[in-house]
Amino acid sequence: MSYFQPSFDARSAAVRVRFGAGIRHKLADEIGRLGCHRALILSTPPQADGAMQLAADLKGLATGVFTRAAMHTPVAVTDDALAHARSVDADCLVALGGGSTTGLGKAIAYRTDLPQIVIPTTYAGSEATWILGQTENGVKTTLTDPKVQPEVILYDAELVRTLPVDMTVTSALNAMAHAAEALYAENRNPMSTMLAIEGLRAFAAALPRVIENPEDLDARGETLYGAWLCGTVLGQVGMALHHKLCHTLGGSFDLPHAETHAVVLPHVIEYNALAVPDLLAPVTEIFGGSSPGRALFDFARSMGAPTALRDLGLKRDDISKAADLATRKPYWNPQPVTRPAIDELLLAAWAGDPPAA
Ligand code: NAD
Repeated sequence: MSYFQPSFDARSAAVRVRFGAGIRHKLADEIGRLGCHRALILSTPPQADGAMQLAADLKGLATGVFTRAAMHTPVAVTDDALAHARSVDADCLVALGGGSTTGLGKAIAYRTDLPQIVIPTTYAGSEATWILGQTENGVKTTLTDPKVQPEVILYDAELVRTLPVDMTVTSALNAMAHAAEALYAENRNPMSTMLAIEGLRAFAAALPRVIENPEDLDARGETLYGAWLCGTVLGQVGMALHHKLCHTLGGSFDLPHAETHAVVLPHVIEYNALAVPDLLAPVTEIFGGSSPGRALFDFARSMGAPTALRDLGLKRDDISKAADLATRKPYWNPQPVTRPAIDELLLAAWAGDPPAA
């Protein structure tokens, strides 16, 4: 199969990526390489011990630890972290964690242009993008800015071994959603398509092995590799209906981020396959099944992922409001987005039914 396109625009970020089990122990070298001497280490509260350990290992190179990163990057937390960064005179940021911690590092970098090193511990992929989502007064807004793009990523498979199995599965499906929507992105290019297909393949091959043995370092490494590819793709091309629906469900109904991606993805992919069957054929090839959405649904279910929005807390009566919000403003999607179609799609996702073509 060729990924050639007769014309395209492409964007690649200048990011230094180091990959390998134990690579976090090279953190001091990377701080030195940036010409920095006073790193502020960031984490969520549950990962505070890991952040403290990292700071201890860095000896004099760590100037502070801030462990209050939170989901959806609340601006109030960023303000506190920013004050802390200034009080300890930090000259670089080290984010140890998932998308929430990476988001906090990006939010500080957006305001200070401090260089960032990210050590990801989930598959969310935020470390590979120049996108920042922030929440203030209950409203989440998203921006893109070169200052937000982390300079260095250290992918260390040893650190994802502690990710609980249920979170492993939903985080992986969150990453796969970036790749699946990249296949039909309006601004896709041959490289984004290659990255997306290889990212999906990596998860298809390695996630079942991780579920069987969460300590399997090779399998954890391959899923992390998939996360890098899927995150890189997210930073290169625009997303469509799936991300719009998940943003709406998360923002307006407080549904959990990764779980919502896991439930919605097969339904949107089946819907969009009506318009772009050829572009989504690799999904069926990789996961095996009668159609791309069904292939993803069966894969997700076999991994133990949630399959129903009602199990995530969405009420039956919220479907019409969600459909309303998600169709209010026009945006690009390969299959035209109509209100009745979105009602039907959300109803199937709410009930946990297999996606309907
Ligand atoms: P998260 O970072 O909130 O992590 C979820 C929980 O798991 C946290 O309590 C965390 O401490 C814990 N955890 C993380 N890694 C662990 C590990 N290895 N072992 C044990 N516990 C661990 O969740 P997430 O799904 O990684 O990130 C979600 C956030 O990232 C959302 O706010 C989302 O909008 C954002 N995001 C942004 C982008 C972007 O490009 N801007 C991309 C993807 C996601």
